[in-house]
Amino acid sequence: MYRTHTCGQLRLSDVKTQVTLAGWVQTVRKFGSITFVDLRDRYGITQLLFNESLNDNLENQPLGREFVLQAKGVVNERSNKNLNIPTGEVEILVNEFTILNRSAVPPFSIQDDTDGGDDLRMKYRFLDLRRNAVKKNLELRYAVNRSARNYLHQNGFMDIETPFLIKSTPEGARDFVVPSRMNPGQFYALPQSPQTFKQLLMVSGYDRYYQVVKCFRDEDLRADRQPEFTQIDCEMAFVEQEDILEMFEGLIKAIFKDVKGIDYTEKVERTTWEEAMWTYGNDKPDIRFGMKLGNLKHPSTVFSGKQAEVSASPLAGTTGFGVFDNAETILGIAIPGAAEYTRKQVDELTEWVKRPQVGMQGLVNIRYNSDGSLKSSVDKFFNEDQLKAIANYCNAQPGDLIVVLAGKEEKTRKAASQLRLELAQRLGLRKDTEFKLLWVLDFPLFEYAEEENRWVARHHPFTSPKPDQISVMINNDPKIKDADKYLDHPYANIKANAYDMVLNGNEIGGGSIRIFQRELQEKMFAALGMDEHEQQHKFGFLLGAFEYGAPPHGGIAFGFDRLCAILGGSESIRDFIAFPKNNSGRDVMLDAPGTIDEKQFDELQIRLDLKS
Ligand code: ASP
Repeated sequence: MYRTHTCGQLRLSDVKTQVTLAGWVQTVRKFGSITFVDLRDRYGITQLLFNESLNDNLENQPLGREFVLQAKGVVNERSNKNLNIPTGEVEILVNEFTILNRSAVPPFSIQDDTDGGDDLRMKYRFLDLRRNAVKKNLELRYAVNRSARNYLHQNGFMDIETPFLIKSTPEGARDFVVPSRMNPGQFYALPQSPQTFKQLLMVSGYDRYYQVVKCFRDEDLRADRQPEFTQIDCEMAFVEQEDILEMFEGLIKAIFKDVKGIDYTEKVERTTWEEAMWTYGNDKPDIRFGMKLGNLKHPSTVFSGKQAEVSASPLAGTTGFGVFDNAETILGIAIPGAAEYTRKQVDELTEWVKRPQVGMQGLVNIRYNSDGSLKSSVDKFFNEDQLKAIANYCNAQPGDLIVVLAGKEEKTRKAASQLRLELAQRLGLRKDTEFKLLWVLDFPLFEYAEEENRWVARHHPFTSPKPDQISVMINNDPKIKDADKYLDHPYANIKANAYDMVLNGNEIGGGSIRIFQRELQEKMFAALGMDEHEQQHKFGFLLGAFEYGAPPHGGIAFGFDRLCAILGGSESIRDFIAFPKNNSGRDVMLDAPGTIDEKQFDELQIRLDLKS
């Protein structure tokens, strides 16, 4: 038997027990003729005490960091206790030891604060994974996985595997492709998601499906993207949007409870896409804090219920201030308690919005002093009553500083959103111990692709329009005659039966109620510019299946890596993946991707002739 206990197990109650431990040497400390060794395994660290009787043995077989060691001995109460670790009150008085394996000197130390840079840690990921910090992340990942599976199992979902070697499933990214030896010159695509398979499973009658599954998307990478990533992928038959929202709100709440001990009892808030875009400047708003945008000019699109407010805006008409009058959109944010910012602080904010990443010309500021008076950088154009009206419009309180951005709609919304998040960050309002969920509903069904002058599916082509808008889709020609006026096309206003779940400003899941009638699916493909031949070639199997009793269905997929990262309080999903890839999509440990042998090319009947 290699061990009787783990290195995280022994306590004072075990004193005098004869034990055998096995693990890795964390540290060796020699004091004269006695030696202390910290022995580490997945479960913890236990101190070993080698007294002088073992001195010679240790000299003949010196221990080094990361050696694999087996030690036999008796549990002893420590005189010098370390109350920071659970095993810190005991040590093992070693009477026999065996070096099970030696280790080269590790390229960085296996500690919470390691001296290894990112590249080095990735190259030696198997050593990095020994570190507590990484281990904790993987443990959390496993806890999320278990919790999700339990919940889904309890709710009658069945885990069904779907193939990886398939044909393209469009989710808006490039495919990874795999050449087929048995079908020379032909390629499989790796799934961007199991989308079409889960829909086929609904046609087959497996009315509650799930899978914790790898998806592959050949996209440019960022800290929160990986070319292969994991989804909790789900689908249900005989459901409407409300059924899905309820079921999966339940899933995330169960995960909160199981993994973080958080009772998220309140109903998850909901907003429409349109409202999110105007209130927060983006479609995945962080609602842990307020600072909602004041929409100070009549927006080109007015969302339900806001009409009155918008027309009451003091900046809705002509003001005499050119910057505002010429702007398509004017958005204000009240920064709580910032009326006292110095001139320098305000200038710094102005510089911040002028950075190329934000790209605004500048900002207008209005101080709403604690005594209720108002002072602005545009006092020439606006009297105090008007400033007060603007302040009210931005929900400002005395003591706040209001900053106003003006420009083109899309750019201004984006900049306001960036500024809102930056300000909240600086004010400490984005705490990673606080969790706030939000459903974003009613996304547009289509997006306009400028380069191709055609519609593309905002979510994916299997998403259904809102039931009352199916006729708009069927009765209108998708062709866009005047590209500049695409917003006037009836398709621009069709809303999808689609929903995203947002957690602390991150999209953690998204899905939709699907099209399940062949005719509508064909209409959708046609709207996206696919002729009959292409439809048949790419999705004949799905269109065919829809002829054999496809039930109404819908589903959702959660980004599992990202969900884990947020629950773990980290920005980077890489920290939560055992063997991640770097920003160039490389596995630096394996040195992949790499070339293949001539023989493999021959078998595939492929000749390599790179274009550049
Ligand atoms: N397949 C979709 C995605 O990967 C999710 C869904 O519609 O269920 O985003």
